[in-house]
Amino acid sequence: MYFPKYRLRRLRRNATLRRLVRETRLAKDDLIYPLFAVPGVSVRNPVPSMPGVFQLSVDELVHEALEAKALGIPAILLFGIPEAKDEVGSGAYAQDGIVQRAVQEVKSRVSDLLVITDVCLCEYTSHGHCGVLRGGEVENDATLELLARTALSHARAGADVVAPSDMMDGRVAAIRGALDENGFSQLPIMAYAAKFAAPTRWILPTVTRPCEKSDWTSRKGRISSW
Ligand SMILES: [Zn+2]
Repeated sequence: MYFPKYRLRRLRRNATLRRLVRETRLAKDDLIYPLFAVPGVSVRNPVPSMPGVFQLSVDELVHEALEAKALGIPAILLFGIPEAKDEVGSGAYAQDGIVQRAVQEVKSRVSDLLVITDVCLCEYTSHGHCGVLRGGEVENDATLELLARTALSHARAGADVVAPSDMMDGRVAAIRGALDENGFSQLPIMAYAAKFAAPTRWILPTVTRPCEKSDWTSRKGRISSW
């Protein structure tokens, strides 16, 4: 049925009707609190562009996680800023990497709080891209193995969910394969549905050379491109 018989505005006519037919309700149970781990002790680096947001050392991050739990927030999402960066982002999949340490610490000190980990390489690569560079381009397939290795290291550290944000083609299958082969077939993967502006770039300082991130991140103008 089409207009004029079909008139969607009928269900939006007043506040009570809108309340009745609303499909999406946002509650505390829906929230995930992003936290940004940095090396050191008692570190709280404010992020100037986002008031109230800090880069936190693991001890501070545990306090924040405890507070989130006390507020009834069910999950945190961890990002890491490593001690050092290199061409292949090895800090992302290091057994004692910053996120791996943060996961272990939170899981041992805070009960009943889901720990989700961001799986990407851009915080850990010296060039700031989400994958390995070959000839000035981000090499999709070579990156998959490193993303899978990263997710597996998070799982081994105790993560409850891994969340790839890199936008490489085939990364969910690669991560799923690595998790299943290593005894983590129950571990969920939470893909970020879309990544248009990558707000974490303001918090996780990255360099974008020699190619721009726009060659693999989503474009606002065309959803189907991702
Ligand atoms: Zn990334």
